[in-house]
Amino acid sequence: MTKRALITGITGQDGSHLAEHLLGLGYEIHGTVRPVAAESAAATGRIAHLINDISLHSASIESYPSIYRLIGQYQFDECYHLAARSFVAESFLDGFSTMSVNINGTHYILAALCELQPHCRFYFAGSSEMFGNALESPQNENTPFRPRSPYGISKVAGFHLTRNFRETHGMFCSSGILFNHEGPRRGREFVTRKISIAVARIKLGLATELRLGNVESRRDWGHAADYVEGMYAMLQQPEPDDYVIATGETHSVKEFCEMAFACVGLDYRDYLVIDEKLYRPSESYVLTGDSSKARSVLNWRPKHTFQALVSEMVESDLEIIGRTLK
Ligand code: GDP
Repeated sequence: MTKRALITGITGQDGSHLAEHLLGLGYEIHGTVRPVAAESAAATGRIAHLINDISLHSASIESYPSIYRLIGQYQFDECYHLAARSFVAESFLDGFSTMSVNINGTHYILAALCELQPHCRFYFAGSSEMFGNALESPQNENTPFRPRSPYGISKVAGFHLTRNFRETHGMFCSSGILFNHEGPRRGREFVTRKISIAVARIKLGLATELRLGNVESRRDWGHAADYVEGMYAMLQQPEPDDYVIATGETHSVKEFCEMAFACVGLDYRDYLVIDEKLYRPSESYVLTGDSSKARSVLNWRPKHTFQALVSEMVESDLEIIGRTLK
């Protein structure tokens, strides 16, 4: 029988990759789109190529009635809750919005599922930001959370809500603790995409410099297309559980720059400008994921190398920006 999945945040980077993956497996896909974004081509750009194969519903995780109505309308086998305010830097500027949207949004969905369809399997998009200033490295499922940003705190709360519905109501609720994952569809505000766009613009003669904040900061960067396969695998297990998804390899922002500029034959040192204003009030300095549990239980592993990720992003932006010049 065809399985039916609901994806909140389907218009985002991960939502679009997950929708593709599940469509390939024969799923019927439903996704939520915020009422303000429903008519915007920019907001639905990442799923434009899927638009005839999926059902979109106007609903917002900020509105319990809209969530309740949607969950009451269909019988879902699986729900992937990806919608969130996800930009860490923004969460420092407006922690209230990040906290209220992310925490209440997760609570609304869990509460509606619990009441209307408690057998629907639920995936929560946890984050390496939950580890924050971690006391051990690499981080695994047993590493204590010490979040360093309102975003990280909101994800810790969502993680505990998810675990609590699993333990209290016996629901199949799993959390993925995903380390940074990127790709050509990454939002432009994140550092990897900011770099790949700048490299393309510089190569095409449209810009002369790239301004960044803390380039010593290190991240465990994987490819979003690989990471959504981990989400899917978590909901196919006999029991709900939590899993770290990561490459286990870290690189600095500077290394990302070096490789991205090298892709087009340039030296990053000729273009990089450090801008103190782009530093954050506090950082999760080094995050490295230990995904051995996902590798052994889910048989998950990343397929893209760091080099492949960087060059795919640069090539994609060269193509997109080059097209607009023609
Ligand atoms: P995050 O790990 O979810 O916060 O992902 P980001 O891509 O936004 O940031 C990754 C790291 O890059 C952080 O440590 C930032 O401080 C650092 N970084 C340095 N310069 C910049 C910049 O100009 N923009 C962003 N977004 N991050 C920067």
